[in-house]
Parts: sequence; C-alpha cells; structure tokens
Amino acid sequence: MQAKQKYYFDWLNEVGKVLFPNNCCGCNTPLNNQEDTICISCLAKLPRTNYHRLKSNPVFRKFTGRLPVVQATSFLYFKKGNLAQILLHKLKYNKRQDLGERLGGLFALDLLKDGFALPDLILPLPLHPDKEKLRGFNQSLCIAGGLERWLEVPVAAQVVKRTVANPTQTKKSRYDRWKNVEDIFAVSEPAAVMGKHVLVIDDVITTGSTLESCGRNLLESGAKAVSIATLASA
Ligand SMILES: [Zn+2]
Repeated sequence: MQAKQKYYFDWLNEVGKVLFPNNCCGCNTPLNNQEDTICISCLAKLPRTNYHRLKSNPVFRKFTGRLPVVQATSFLYFKKGNLAQILLHKLKYNKRQDLGERLGGLFALDLLKDGFALPDLILPLPLHPDKEKLRGFNQSLCIAGGLERWLEVPVAAQVVKRTVANPTQTKKSRYDRWKNVEDIFAVSEPAAVMGKHVLVIDDVITTGSTLESCGRNLLESGAKAVSIATLASA
C-alpha cells in the first residue's frame, strides 16, 4: 500500500472506531454491556481445536523430528473465511490489539482448565523491527499479554531478536525452508532463558519453520524446554 493510501486507510479506520465503537469483532453486531470485544454468539462459535487436551496433536506432530517440544497447540482452526480468519484479520490489519489480548485470555482459560503444563516464561515470536515499525505493533505480543494475565507467567518480549525479515517459504523443499529460516533469530539475553521452560507464541502456524528456528535458538542458548502455542492453525 502506498503511503498516501495507507494514510487514508488508517484515517477511515479511526473514523470507523469512533462511529462504531462497540461492535463485535466477529459479526459486527453491537455488543451489550456484558460483552467484551466478541459477542456471546461468536464466542460460542469459535472454532476451537482443543488440541491441548491431546499431547500428540496435529500441531505437536509438525515438530516431530525437527524440534523437541514439551507441548504444542493452537487455539482455533484457521480456514479461509471462517471466524478465526475474520478475527485474525481484525487483529493484524485493523490493529485491534485489544482483540489479540482477549483471544489470548480465552486461550489461557482453556489451557488452565485442562491442565496445560505451565511454562516459566512466555515469548511472543518477534517480528523483524522493520515489519513491526510498519504494522505499529507485534500481534504475538498482544496474544501473549492475554496469556500472561490469566496464566500468571511473565512475558519476556526482549530476550530474542529477529535479525532477518520473514523468508519466503512457498515452493521450497523442507530442507530449503530449513536453511532459509536457520538463522533468523538471535537470543540477545541468554541469561533470561537459561534453565527455563519457554512457551513461544505466534498468531498462526503453517509449516512451523519459523517457530522451529526460534525454538532451536532457545535450546541452544540454554533454555530447559520449549513449548509452542499459536492462536490459530492453518
Ligand atoms: Zn459476534
């Protein structure tokens, strides 16, 4: 998007927020006083995976033979046009950081209810600084905020830096993808992760290569264990 277009888009977005301040992020109907960000009807329709109830779930199995993880799970199924896609789009492109925190909180409540082993630290997967500057925020940090609040586990947002922007991953073999994401992170504060069980958070998992790369860096820097939790799974 060109700068001028982006300016008008952001401006319209702000006007929209003033005109329609309290509509559901899922279906756009007005929220009542008891509802927060998502209406009760959309809450009931969230396409939960409940993967965390099963150790060897499809997200966990993505890391088999690639990265030893204690637990790996996703909150929602992500499909083209489904409620998860609508919500993630609102979070990332309409900059609804409050929605990220709300979804992170709902995810945390499910994890707590079903005895998900609590980590020592929550690490939102870092964006490249240029990308974060462009978007204005890191969506994984918002999700991590909701998890932190309910799991009562601290977020460590600064201990890992992303040194390479998002690699292109389409039409590449697994080996090429692996090479491509091998060194895109650097642990800048190894002492902070030493001996810790770190839960890495991202918005959507597809191949898992980026999370794998970050997880490997953490283990090489002395983390005791790594778990993975994403808001959605494609
Ligand atoms: Zn709704």
